[in-house]
Parts: sequence; C-alpha cells; structure tokens
Amino acid sequence: MQFRPFNPPVRTLMGPGPSDVHPRILEAMSRPTIGHLDPAFIQMMEEVKTLLQYAFQTKNELTMPVSAPGSAGMETCFANLVEPGDQVIVCQNGVFGGRMKENVERCGGIPIMVEDTWGEAVDPDKLETALKANPEACIVAFVHAETSTGAQSDAETLVKLAHQYDCLTIVDAVTSLGGTPIKVDEWEIDAIYSGTQKCLSCTPGLSPVSFNERALEKIRNRKQKVQSWFMDLNLVMGYWGGGAKRAYHHTAPINALYGLHEALLMLQEEGLENAWARHQKNHLALRAGLEAMGLTFIVNEGDRLPQLNAVSIPEGVDDGAVRSRLLNEYNLEIGAGLGALAGKVWRIGLMGHASRAENILLCISSLEAILSEMGADISQGVAIPAMQKALAQA
Ligand SMILES: *Cc1c(COP(=O)(O)O)cnc(C)c1O
Repeated sequence: MQFRPFNPPVRTLMGPGPSDVHPRILEAMSRPTIGHLDPAFIQMMEEVKTLLQYAFQTKNELTMPVSAPGSAGMETCFANLVEPGDQVIVCQNGVFGGRMKENVERCGGIPIMVEDTWGEAVDPDKLETALKANPEACIVAFVHAETSTGAQSDAETLVKLAHQYDCLTIVDAVTSLGGTPIKVDEWEIDAIYSGTQKCLSCTPGLSPVSFNERALEKIRNRKQKVQSWFMDLNLVMGYWGGGAKRAYHHTAPINALYGLHEALLMLQEEGLENAWARHQKNHLALRAGLEAMGLTFIVNEGDRLPQLNAVSIPEGVDDGAVRSRLLNEYNLEIGAGLGALAGKVWRIGLMGHASRAENILLCISSLEAILSEMGADISQGVAIPAMQKALAQA
C-alpha cells in the first residue's frame, strides 16, 4: 500500500478539548529543534516556568510542565503526595473525579468518596461532613472545572475547608487554567495540575503543575520512594529546577515546549483578566443563541463554566447523526456526553483560541440548520439575533 503525508482536514474544535490551536503556536512549534541541555533551551525553560507562575497566579518555585498530557499531571500529583495507607477524600461530580479515585487506589491510598450529582458543583457541606467523619484523612482532591458536565466548583471555599481539617489539597484545573479565575497563592492550593489543549490554545501533550511548600514538605518526608520513576518530583526537579547544574532526566519534548512558551506569551499579552472576561462574554453570547433556539443547559446558572457548555439533546434527535453532520458538512467538532451523560447532552467548548465570535456564529447557525432539517422542535430564525444582541451588550 502506498502511503502519503497526512494532511488533516481543517476543523473548528468546539468540543471538550483539544480546542483550536492558535497559528502562532503551530508556527513556534515548527522552529528548529535544539538540544534539551542547550543553554538557549534552558533559558526558554526558565521563561516557561515564570510564565506558568503568572498563569497559575503563584510564586511557587516548583511550577513546571510535566512532559505528558493532563492525566499525567494528575498522576504526578497523586503519585508524589499519596503514600500507602493515606486516606484521601475525593469529591466526585463527574468523570474526572472517578479518575482521581483510581489514582488514589493505585498509589496504595484509601479513597473516601464524597459524591455529588453530575452537573452540580461540589457541595462544601458534604465535604465538611466527610472531613469530620474521617479525622485521619490527609488530602482532599477535587476537580475545579468538570469538563464532563460543565460545572464549576468553588475551589477557594473547598481548599479553606480542607485546611481547617489539616488536609492538603489536590486541584484539577485542566479545563480552568486560562479560562476562569485560578489563584493558586491567594486560594492556598497545595498541588494543582492543568493541560495545554484546553484554554491555553496549545496542542495536547503537556501538563503544567505547581506545588507549594506544604506539599513539598509531605513529599520530602515520604517513608517510601515515589513508585513512579518518571513522575518522581525529586528526580524531575534535577532537570527542571537544577539551574546551571541541570542533569539529564528525560529528553524534554523540545518543540512542544516552544508551543507552550508561545501560548503563555500570548496569555500574558492578552492579560489573564481579559482572557477570563473573553471566555465569559462569549459564553453569554453562545448561551443566548442556544437558549433562543430552545436548547437548555444542564448546569444551574451560577455553576456554569463559560468554556464548556453542556446542553440537553432535544427529544427524538439522533446525537451521533447531528455530530457527524456538523463534522462532515461544516468541519465543526462538538463534544458528546461522557459517562452517565452519554447520549443525553452535547458539550460545546469555547476554550482558548476557540472562544471567538465567528465560532459561536458557526456553531449556532450550523446546529440550527441541521436540527431544523431533522424536524427537531426548535425555534428558527431567532438564535443569531439573540447572539448578536448578547455580544453587543457585553
Ligand atoms: C481533559 C481533562 C483531563 C485529562 O487531560 P488529558 O490531557 O486528556 O490527559 C483531566 N481533567 C479534566 C477536568 C479534563 O478536562
């Protein structure tokens, strides 16, 4: 069989990630590869760390990207902080909390689950009840922005509660970083991880993490070595934190890091607050259009993530048929429901570079065209004016 170079179709990515990658980032990634201990590269790594501190709003020295996707950032946090026998409270309100439980178990820890309804924020009262009932617990873990449902939890309140009961905190900010406020130092988050392919407009494959002094103290005082050689922060820091004396640990994904550097530079140029405001403004415009059409959000208004909009699929509409028509006819990708929400919702992302007015217009108009052709019970001709009005008001 004769193979040819792979030329991907040009899509608009409005799912749960990856989201549209900015052309500046793709261009940066095509620059010449240099050695991972080259002084020029080390200089760039230092800049990535500083820019990440800005994105996370932290002075934490241990702030760097793990060389693997968001799931590896999650695993880095659990592998380093959870020791065999540790009781870890995991608040679950969607798919990703379930993965945290898996991580705790695989590290030899004992997960204590606090379950919330999917589509709702984590309930601080339930967390407090669990903290009171489990005085031995030493870590609380939760997902700030549940991409599987579109619900946002109150990270500041949950972290404060955890600290009142002497627990460290692990926060999943894969979908929140760059899209909604995250203030690591002000909120006193102990360990946090994110991803590059959601609101940072970058390609998938890296996971920014940050650890504060309290978290590092627990890691330093471990009785056993971290089970994972690759993720052991004591070893990784010899490379990322070694200053001039940097030692080889693994070969950094050089060009991927050029991309992250460019993405973080763009975030700094836009300004974090402006990026948060842009995500919110575009969410309101998308929402106005979808609701005018007659679609309903599954998350209560106060808990909605601007960058991930989960709406119910109208009665009698074939989920898969709509999504494949969007992809084939309009080059538009939106997300399917995950886990308990499979077949029930669409997840429309407005993340990073994808959070733009032209994407909202494409999404609303193509969805309206397809749904009305299929005979779905929606209001026609009102969504775009509603979206325009919302954009003009913002
Ligand atoms: C996407 C996502 C992850 C996993 O990130 P990958 O890069 O796919 O490994 C973890 N948590 C949340 C909340 C996510 O949205």
